[in-house]
Amino acid sequence: MLLLDQTKRMILRLEEGKLLQTHKGMIQHDDIIGIPWGSEILSHLGITFTIVDPSLRDVLLEIRRKTQIIFPKDIGYILLRLSVAPGKRVVEAGSGSGALTTAFAWMVGSTGKVISYERREDMLDLAKENLNLIGLADRVEFHLADIYEGIEEENVDAFFLDLPFPQKYLGTVKNTLVNGGVLGCILPTTNQVSELLLALENHGFGVIEVAEIILRFYKPVPARLRPTDRMVSHTGYLVFARSLVVPEPPSV
Ligand code: SAH
Repeated sequence: MLLLDQTKRMILRLEEGKLLQTHKGMIQHDDIIGIPWGSEILSHLGITFTIVDPSLRDVLLEIRRKTQIIFPKDIGYILLRLSVAPGKRVVEAGSGSGALTTAFAWMVGSTGKVISYERREDMLDLAKENLNLIGLADRVEFHLADIYEGIEEENVDAFFLDLPFPQKYLGTVKNTLVNGGVLGCILPTTNQVSELLLALENHGFGVIEVAEIILRFYKPVPARLRPTDRMVSHTGYLVFARSLVVPEPPSV
């Protein structure tokens, strides 16, 4: 990844003999290959670029999108709450542009699996294309399907719903999750959170948490340290719950 003014990102795959054209001049790929991360390089116009390896956040911000994607600030906490780590099997619906899919695929490693359901073919194609570009497509099984019809997986570690009316799919989620497994949902308004909360208890979910992630950036100027002028103040509410083993009512 090249950074202009240490802020503007350009992520590219380096290939021998290729030329990178930017509005601040040209750079030969060969001049970048082999130099250490953190180095500076000059374009033919003498403009300085910094070379660093892209972080997961950098990759997420570069994703081509046609839907609202989940923001990195929310994804960070989702990964923690769903315990997404090497070897885990995680299901999500819908795939949308594939931002969350990318983060899950990054975290589950080569031994884990992400199973991603999407009912719109054009969105599924975009998510696949994004995962291919990033080089993580082999960790994802994409399905073109409406999860209302039920899904085949069982005993998965975690399930994330990013679609309207998540309460409609709690039966499917319950059948798919391992006992004690974690469900996460993101919803844009509080009334939708209330509807989901009512449904969760009726479907055998417990250990419920509702959260909102507020992230404020600062201008990194030592002498005038203060927040940036603008911030993203609302993305969505996060709801997490665990699938509980509910005892059968005693027969009389
Ligand atoms: N989390 C994604 C964005 C998801 S947008 C990201 O970070 O990029 C929501 C997607 O859910 C849409 O593409 C929509 O087509 C899909 N969707 C809605 N209802 C669905 C259902 N019942 N089954 C499968 N996909 C569904």
